[in-house]
Amino acid sequence: MTFDKLMIGGRWRPATEGQTIPVFAPSTGQQISSIPRGGEADVGAAVKAAREAFEGAWGAMPAFERGRLLSRFAARILDHAEELALLEASDTGKPMTLARNDIKACARYFEFYGGAADKIHGETIPYLSGYQVIVMREARGVTGHIIPWNYPAQMFGRTLAPALAAGNATVLKPAEEACLSSFRLVDIAMDVGFPEGAINLVSGLGSEAGAALTAHPGLDLISFTGSPAVGTLVQQAAAMNHVPCVLELGGKSPQIVFDDADVESASKAITAGIIQNAGQTCSAGSRVLIHQKVYDQVLAALADRFSRVVAGPHELDLDCGPVISAKQQGRVENYLREGERDGVTVAAQGQLHPRTQDGGYFVTPTLFSNVASTHLLAQEEIFGPVLVALPFSDEADAIRIANDTPYGLMAGIWTRDGGRQLRLAKAVRAGQIYVNGFGAGGGIELPFGGFKRSGHGREKGFEALREFTVAKTVILNHG
Ligand code: NAD
Repeated sequence: MTFDKLMIGGRWRPATEGQTIPVFAPSTGQQISSIPRGGEADVGAAVKAAREAFEGAWGAMPAFERGRLLSRFAARILDHAEELALLEASDTGKPMTLARNDIKACARYFEFYGGAADKIHGETIPYLSGYQVIVMREARGVTGHIIPWNYPAQMFGRTLAPALAAGNATVLKPAEEACLSSFRLVDIAMDVGFPEGAINLVSGLGSEAGAALTAHPGLDLISFTGSPAVGTLVQQAAAMNHVPCVLELGGKSPQIVFDDADVESASKAITAGIIQNAGQTCSAGSRVLIHQKVYDQVLAALADRFSRVVAGPHELDLDCGPVISAKQQGRVENYLREGERDGVTVAAQGQLHPRTQDGGYFVTPTLFSNVASTHLLAQEEIFGPVLVALPFSDEADAIRIANDTPYGLMAGIWTRDGGRQLRLAKAVRAGQIYVNGFGAGGGIELPFGGFKRSGHGREKGFEALREFTVAKTVILNHG
């Protein structure tokens, strides 16, 4: 298919201004496509179409039928899995295995929420005698969705599936850097039979289509995933219309390794948790905190694994692909230079496959050691294949360092001590805590979201359905 039209009100149509944005393949740096540069008029038309759908056929559809539709969509995504994975890999540069997993995860979102659509129950509340109180959970109405480029297909499922399951009509603004899979997924959705206006797609620049969507007074909720800086802009714009927001803004998640940890499995999972998607994962474990007694041993195990990581183009299906763009490559390389300038020790570096000489946005995977918790390498979200190691002296020190960033999205705790597992899980301020394991980005069933500057609101699991619905209390005086 071509990617030159927006989906508004059930019809593919060109952007009002007729402009386009070029799309580059991160593995080669070559242009592979272009997408419409939607603007304010397109966003306005999409919100209008969504409102009509919500007040029309989509809003009237019984919950079990919505669920069926989502389930059918999930099955069709799986029918097209290989085609979608190829599209996703060439658009993002991610290795084929990861792209295949992402498409399966996208389908799983629609499967999970398809099954949940007719199980969104309200409640009754005992009140005064002669009264019956019913709390209904209603769809919010028209929801706006702004997603990033790191996991385009997964983000599509993560944000749209619960919104649609709950009965909302949606407007999606995917990221301009990578969103080809969104076009194909919407195409499949239309084929499956979603009523016109239930899913609208307006691609464009963040400062144009994105800003127009967040400022639109016709929305009932905005769901945004991306950088904290843009998260602030989204909240400011939404506040002008009193539109609530669910924000997921990234992290600087710690992996905390105690002296009784299984070093073999910890080092394997910790390496995978930062190398996955070239480190461009909001929940990447990008800091490793190591008990000083085992610091050298754990660092050596990580250094060994890091030095064997090879980065290369997506079709080679290596451990690590390129980063998304020349801009992101420059950003990550800047952090590497800052570390070098401040004399931070490089404990190990991965390799670049010879094919990376042909072009593409590659960054050498790097493990830094003995980084001070106050250093920007330990504080800022680098969003590249860069891991920083910090020593700690005891449990209290580990908790202090773990919480010593503006973020709080996820954490990994590696210890066999049951009491310590729970104490740490309670003390670390993060939305998801793994114990003796780490699943960056995974778990459709598992509520996910941030503390502090990692955002607010919860996605995934049944929690997402609470965000995409609103309670309405009916107080009946029956005498
Ligand atoms: P970004 O926040 O600029 O972009 C994310 C989405 O927001 C895109 O769809 C973009 O078009 C849109 N957007 C941009 N400006 C907007 C505006 N003014 N109003 C409304 N929408 C707007 O992220 P980025 O610049 O692509 O990446 C920068 C950094 O953000 C990364 O290096 C990383 O640290 C972080 N990030 C985090 C996540 C995450 O999953 N939490 C994802 C992507 C990026």
